[in-house]
Amino acid sequence: MRFETEAIHCGQEPEPRTGAVVVPIYQTSTYAQSSPGVHTGYEYTRTQNPTRDALQVALAALEGGTHGLVFASGLAATATVMNLLRAGDHVICMDDVYGGTYRIFDKVFRQYGIDFTFVDARDVGRIEDAIQPATRLVWVETPSNPLLKIVDLRAVAALCRSRGLISVVDNTFASPFFQRPLAFGIDIVAHSTTKYIGGHSDVVGGALVTSRDDLHDRLKFCQNAAGACTAPFDSWLTLRGLKTLAIRMERHFGNALAVARFLEGHSAVSRVIYPWLESHPQQALAQSQMTGMSGMISFEIAGGLEAARRFLERVRVFTLAESLGGVESLIESPAIMTHASIPPDVRAASGLTDGLVRLSVGIEHVEDLLEDLAQALA
Ligand SMILES: *Cc1c(COP(=O)(O)O)cnc(C)c1O
Repeated sequence: MRFETEAIHCGQEPEPRTGAVVVPIYQTSTYAQSSPGVHTGYEYTRTQNPTRDALQVALAALEGGTHGLVFASGLAATATVMNLLRAGDHVICMDDVYGGTYRIFDKVFRQYGIDFTFVDARDVGRIEDAIQPATRLVWVETPSNPLLKIVDLRAVAALCRSRGLISVVDNTFASPFFQRPLAFGIDIVAHSTTKYIGGHSDVVGGALVTSRDDLHDRLKFCQNAAGACTAPFDSWLTLRGLKTLAIRMERHFGNALAVARFLEGHSAVSRVIYPWLESHPQQALAQSQMTGMSGMISFEIAGGLEAARRFLERVRVFTLAESLGGVESLIESPAIMTHASIPPDVRAASGLTDGLVRLSVGIEHVEDLLEDLAQALA
């Protein structure tokens, strides 16, 4: 089956007892046993839940993997990947990652004796140079947040395979509709399903997909052991969003490309970052591993932080808010909002300036979005 069909049908067969076409919300903590230890395969909802299972099966199919696991948030998924490691292990992480990813690595897992090196992973040679005897895992995000840097997935997968390292890609910004890292040999795909997969800004969640049985077994063990699993209702909401992922992503892409071209032609804008623009230094790499791009655009307004602040106060259709990937267009200042947890010198070193503005272009009518940006820039 193809992507659009899988999103609607994988793991979502009609419910056998009533024929319900939509997977029911199994809002139960426990399941009756016919004799001690004799059960239907379901014992306790932290361990298994049919609504969550449906989402896990669907997401695994969409990423082209064999196993999916879902979590209470994207960061709960991230923390579970780190549960694969032990004190003394070393991780190489991309320098431009989601602020919360940086924070949990630097402020939580360092405390457990896990060491991290942050590198500009656009150059895979820098990952290779950072490998130490204790290195176990490489974590990259592509396109990255918020600078939309592209990492060569084929090269990272090949390097990690040859050196026996676990490769992880945070695929939140592309969604599986536009990019499927496992197909390039990456071991684990991570998602904040809060964003494009859920797609409606009404639920927080995370996911991991892999085709490696050994990694899946350990991650599933940790999912149950640590307990940060997705609630039945949240699983159901995410599954409902997932069904329309394909058509939403097509519209996000079309709208974002139009907005990026408009901004590039505007005199008040000094720089536009969007991987599908000819001006993006890694356009060719992006187009060699993605089939399109989501609604994420970053740009700089001439005039720096103060001009950016005035602009952010003036938009009307775009909502000033953190998060991304929903049907509604959002706008934010990474330096003040989403990436404030990254120290200013680390932000500056990776190119994240104070005047940077990040857009999550939604699926409204494109003319309304362009008119809004034009009036706010004026
Ligand atoms: C939001 C986000 C996360 C964290 O996900 P939560 O669901 O907020 O915990 C991780 N990575 C990226 C790229 C994100 O945008």
